[in-house]
Amino acid sequence: MRFSKAFIPTTKEAPKDAVLPSHIYLVRGGFISQVASGIYNFLPLGKRVLDKVRAIVKEELDKAGCQEVQLGFVTPCELWEESGRFGKYGKELLRFKDRKENCFVLGPTHEEMMVDLVRGRVKSYKQLPLNLYQINLKFRDEARPRFGLLRGREFLMKDGYSFHADEEDMRREYALMEETYKKIFMRLGLEFRAVEADVGAIGGSASKEFMVLATSGEDTIAVCSECDYAANVEAATRKSPEPPAEAPEFSNFEPFYTPGLTSIEELSDFFKVHPYYFVKAVAKKAIFDDAEEIVIFFLRGSDELQEVKAQNAVGANELVDVSEEELEKAGIVPGFIAPYEQECRIVLDKELQGAKGLICGGNRKDYHLIGADLSHFDEALFADIAQVREGDLCPKCGAVLKLTKGIEVGHIFQLGTRYSAAMNATFLDRDGKAKPFVMGTYGIGVSRLVAAAIEQNHDERGCIWPKAIAPYMVDIIISNIKDEEQARVGEELYAKLQEAGIEVILDDRADRFGPKIKDFELIGFPYAVIVGKALQEGEVEIVERKGLQKHRVAIDEAVEFIQKLLA
Ligand code: ATP
Ligand code: MG
Repeated sequence: MRFSKAFIPTTKEAPKDAVLPSHIYLVRGGFISQVASGIYNFLPLGKRVLDKVRAIVKEELDKAGCQEVQLGFVTPCELWEESGRFGKYGKELLRFKDRKENCFVLGPTHEEMMVDLVRGRVKSYKQLPLNLYQINLKFRDEARPRFGLLRGREFLMKDGYSFHADEEDMRREYALMEETYKKIFMRLGLEFRAVEADVGAIGGSASKEFMVLATSGEDTIAVCSECDYAANVEAATRKSPEPPAEAPEFSNFEPFYTPGLTSIEELSDFFKVHPYYFVKAVAKKAIFDDAEEIVIFFLRGSDELQEVKAQNAVGANELVDVSEEELEKAGIVPGFIAPYEQECRIVLDKELQGAKGLICGGNRKDYHLIGADLSHFDEALFADIAQVREGDLCPKCGAVLKLTKGIEVGHIFQLGTRYSAAMNATFLDRDGKAKPFVMGTYGIGVSRLVAAAIEQNHDERGCIWPKAIAPYMVDIIISNIKDEEQARVGEELYAKLQEAGIEVILDDRADRFGPKIKDFELIGFPYAVIVGKALQEGEVEIVERKGLQKHRVAIDEAVEFIQKLLA
């Protein structure tokens, strides 16, 4: 490709709302352009990267025996009603009617469509297992589309669904997909972790997320410093912490006057007692399919509530904040909430099970209770709802856990019969009985990966593409196109690199050298060959984008030198 003919509209201006490097550089580098909130065009460079990601994903899946299909993007509401998700899936599901008043949704995920495709067509256990996938558009009317391609409304996803006669075979495929996903992310040249994930409301038995490590990631993951344990904090557990200080001694269980003191910090100062020995209350409103209720969560003062764990503990679709007025109306005293004598539902963190000698709210303004004893509380009230912290101990080996940030680029899930049973998708098993398919589901954020690669690989000048997905491998920059010798050598190298099968772009624009090298740095091709002043010594300059290291190389040796760098 010749730069002079290419549609690569680079700009100096970043989008107004852009805060992350991938968003800024992908727009400035002429990879993508915004159409509307969370909707993007892919320009030629962006399309090349996207296609490369797609090709690697496809190659590895095909090798693992998966088969590619392509399902309709517009899907009938009836299927969503059948699965029971039509009402559940909130506003992310974009619904509309056609001219005949038929109801449709833009597919945010395709469990229903895939089950519908397979049911009636796969009739016997002899036709199982089956793993079908597509790499296709998705639409989710996200509440907060942001960060460019990282959280779009329209985005490209690889979604795969497997069908099995039994759980055991589904687990075998799940393990195969985990291996396959690792191969994919390795080939993409990304640093990643497979982490245990929240199975949430879908209630499958196991789930893993694949996280590209990047400081800008929206997810926090807990990683063991010694063993292979890694988990999203939404699902992370820990070894019970040792008490950090001497337990306070109370001779009685009694109210204590604590005027205006509500925060754990203030109380800890006031009583000279470590926050570990306080019971902290967090009130939330839990939203269910067709009801809502106030729930109060209690945990040690040294811990924070993990909302996803808390939501799972009560089986809610969502937890939202609740105002002081609402609490007071329900007879709850904000700031002084005790785990005793509550009419609303309460949940206590499992670390509090059997705990004694505590300080908790007094259910009365300006009072706390000292010497609280939770050992007689019913076991069913306890659940794991605390957020794992940096420095907590690994649940597997006891070594120290570290927290890092990640971008979720893939998710695999043991689904079971949740959809097949609801949609009556069955096969005849060996014993002649009709059974619902046991399913797995596996997703990869293909367009999100384009941005995640840049979140992990960039500097203050622009993108640094991993070689596997770079739009072109080499950018030949003719420093001054009016210089005949420079133009001749540039063209010659362009031809030779193409002959060697290397993807190359020739910057033959009638521009000054400055903007050309700036574009190289912004776009982030792995290598540049500068054909300029060094020609006088019979040499060209080869620049590595990562680290911007320069090498002077004889003209005749340039192709071989690049081949070595690429190897
Ligand atoms: P998130 O928690 O980031 O919203 P999710 O759990 O909703 O993701 P899945 O339903 O598991 O995501 O979708 C599979 C994959 O699709 C995700 O792992 C992610 O890489 C990608 N993905 C999900 N939502 C978006 C989005 N709004 N924009 C781009 N990619 C997305
Ligand atoms: Mg989501």
